[in-house]
Order: sequence, then C-alpha cells, then structure tokens
Amino acid sequence: MLTVAAALEQLMATVLPLSLSEVPLEESLGLVLGEDVCSLGDIPPFDKSLMDGYAVRSTDVSSGIASLRVTENITAGRVPAKNVGAGEAAQIMTGAPLPVGADVVVKIEETSRDGDHVFIKTLPPPAGTNILLRGTIVRAGEHVLHAGLVLNGPRIGALAELGRAVVSTRRRPEVAILATGDELVPINESPGPAQIRNSNASMLAAQIESAGGIPVSIGIARDNRDELQRKIQQGLKCDVLVLSGGVSAGVLDLVPGTLAEMGVTEIFHKVEMKPGKPIWFGQRDKSRQIVDGNCRECFVFGLPGNPVSSLVCCELFVRTAIRRLMGVEPAIVPPILAKLEHDYSTRPDRPTYHPARLTWGAGGFAVRLVPWHGSSDLCGISAANGMAYLSGEARQYRVGDELETFGW
Ligand code: AMP
Ligand code: MG
Repeated sequence: MLTVAAALEQLMATVLPLSLSEVPLEESLGLVLGEDVCSLGDIPPFDKSLMDGYAVRSTDVSSGIASLRVTENITAGRVPAKNVGAGEAAQIMTGAPLPVGADVVVKIEETSRDGDHVFIKTLPPPAGTNILLRGTIVRAGEHVLHAGLVLNGPRIGALAELGRAVVSTRRRPEVAILATGDELVPINESPGPAQIRNSNASMLAAQIESAGGIPVSIGIARDNRDELQRKIQQGLKCDVLVLSGGVSAGVLDLVPGTLAEMGVTEIFHKVEMKPGKPIWFGQRDKSRQIVDGNCRECFVFGLPGNPVSSLVCCELFVRTAIRRLMGVEPAIVPPILAKLEHDYSTRPDRPTYHPARLTWGAGGFAVRLVPWHGSSDLCGISAANGMAYLSGEARQYRVGDELETFGW
C-alpha cells in the first residue's frame, strides 16, 4: 500500500497550478502571487527624516551644544528650498526629505526655539542620526516578493508601495462536495431510525474554504448508481470534486466503480494511514471532458465517510491539491514539530494521525493527545486543534519527545 509521502508525490505530479490571470490588488487577499516582484525604484526614494526636529550639519553639533539659525520648515511631501550651511538648521518633520548639507536630525525634544534661532543640547550625534538614506530598505531592481506567497495585508501593502495596482495570481479553485450514503439526512432534518445527519459536507466546506478553495455543495447522493452518476456529473464541472463515503469494501460502496464508468481514472486507492486508509484519488480523463463539452480538468477525491477519516484526508490531500492549483509554495503544508507533554505508548499499527491539542509557549510548540473514540468521533476532537503523527511501530513515547503535527 502507498505511504502518505508516496501518495502526496503522485498527487503533486498529477495536479498542476491553474493558469495565471491579472487581478486588481484590492481583490487579491488570500490569492497567491504568481510572479516574482522587483522594485522599480529605491525605497525610500529619497533621504528622509525619521523624526520631527532640526536637520543640521554634524560638524555644527559635534560638542552636543549649538545655537543655529533656522532657514526653513520642511514638512512631509515638500521639497527643501535651501541647502543647510554652516551655522544653519532647517526645521524638519518625520518623512520629509533631508535638505542638502544636513547629515543629522536632532529630535525636537533636544532643542528649544527662540525666534529664528534654535538652541540644541544633545549627545554629540554621529552623521546619519535619525535619517533613513535613499535605498536603505530596497535598491532599485531588488526582488521583494516571490511567486507562491499567499497575499495578506502586509504583502498587499508592500505591493502597493511598489506601485502594483494589478498583480498576477491564480483563481481559487471551485471544489464540489458530494456526500454519499442512504443513511444521511440534511442537517436541518431530524434523522429517522438508522439515519444520521450529513455532518461531513459542512466540515469539508469549512476546511476547503480555509484552504483557499470555493466550496460548492452538491448535496447528498443515495447509494445507487443512477443518482451517484447524476450528481457526480454535476460535480465534475468544478476543478475538484470531493465525495465522502462509499469508497470502502461494503456492498454499497459504489463510488470507485461509478467514477471509473464515468471516465475518471484512478491515480491511487488506499493509503497506509489511520484513519483514512480507503481514500481514492483520480483525474477525469481529458478526452471525455471534450466529448462532454466541459473543458475543465477535474481532480476527484473519494474520502472515507467516517468524519475524522474525512477530516484527515481532507487536510492531507484535498488541502494540498487546492494549494497546488493556486500555486502556493510549498503546496504540501510542512509539519509543525511539537514536544509531547505526556508519556504515551503505542502498539504496532498503521501510521496514525491522532487528534491533538497544540499550544505555543516559551519552549516552542507543545502537544497533548486528546482522548477520542476513533474515526467517527468528531465531537471528541472538537477539543483538538490539530493532529499528531505516530509512526506505526510499537513505541513508548516520553515527555519532551518531538512529534510531527499539523494544525487547523
Ligand atoms: P462509508 O465510508 O460510506 O462506509 O461510511 C463510513 C461511516 O461514516 C458510516 O458510519 C457512515 O454512516 C458515516 N458517514 C458517511 N458519510 C457521512 C457524512 N456525510 N456525515 C457523517 N457521517 C457519515
Ligand atoms: Mg456509505
């Protein structure tokens, strides 16, 4: 059976980033930068004052005490009209350009003003004090942001500073969600005998949206071929189709067979992991897309129906596919290393993702495994904020052992 790493490798080889398009900067939050961005000019673009005070010559204040004649007042946005000569000072505000001749700004708090003279009493300031020289932050032509970064407030701010009103990104993929099972009822209905609510669809929609995708609900398909086919057909119009349930070995686990009949080629089925072993992944065969007049490529996941299995598979595989389509670097979320807060012993098993509580403290991340009743226990893991990876061998873990984890 495939390991998680091998399955992720196959997924990365199958799913490629969507094509690039230009979007206005103000619509780019959460999208992924599709290009390396350089600065066209120096930042700051001129030598500027970092303080409100007086721009002076360092040689005039080398003793720390001086009385200088004030020649002008330079506020932010104004170009200095005069040079600062020996015995002179220009009053200057934060962000204003430094006048020629001055090489120090003395803070207003270290001065007192009397008419057109300023008296300075300070520690002798070296040249450059309270000044940000042109190009100190970025030089013209320097790389500032690279392709693959998710655009957030600070990065959007940096792009705005660089004058990028339009940026190159990839759209969010549409991800159809189809729950399967004769036992399922919508969450706003009361389950009859032997029925349960379709909790997976709501959970998957939330996780898909948090990964950057646009969830599209297709509802519930009963465990029969006709209904499955009809709803799968609808889902194949999206970039990704995520099914839950019907991929194991039960008599009504019809999902893999139905997908194959519909021209979805299996890439892998079953992965060496717990929970989530029966996961199915495939790609809609391209020739079939053209026959149907639907040219979008579609990647299809059949997740096992047990809620925690669905969650783990969604986090490991569906999230990676969404990030890959959007061009996030790296597409596979790197694990967070966290120190175990208690002893824990395991018996030989498949490699396991165990619900866990991650906290951040002085020593970095710490992790505590939370009690749970297996892959159908979604309520038990509401106390968790992630999963910890246990390797599968019988092992006595000790306090302080480092575990690989992922969080949500
Ligand atoms: P299956 O993978 O279809 O064999 O389902 C495995 C278990 O998950 C069964 O107990 C199902 O009732 C349950 N299950 C399947 N789909 C869902 C769903 N959408 N929401 C909640 N539980 C589900
Ligand atoms: Mg089922």
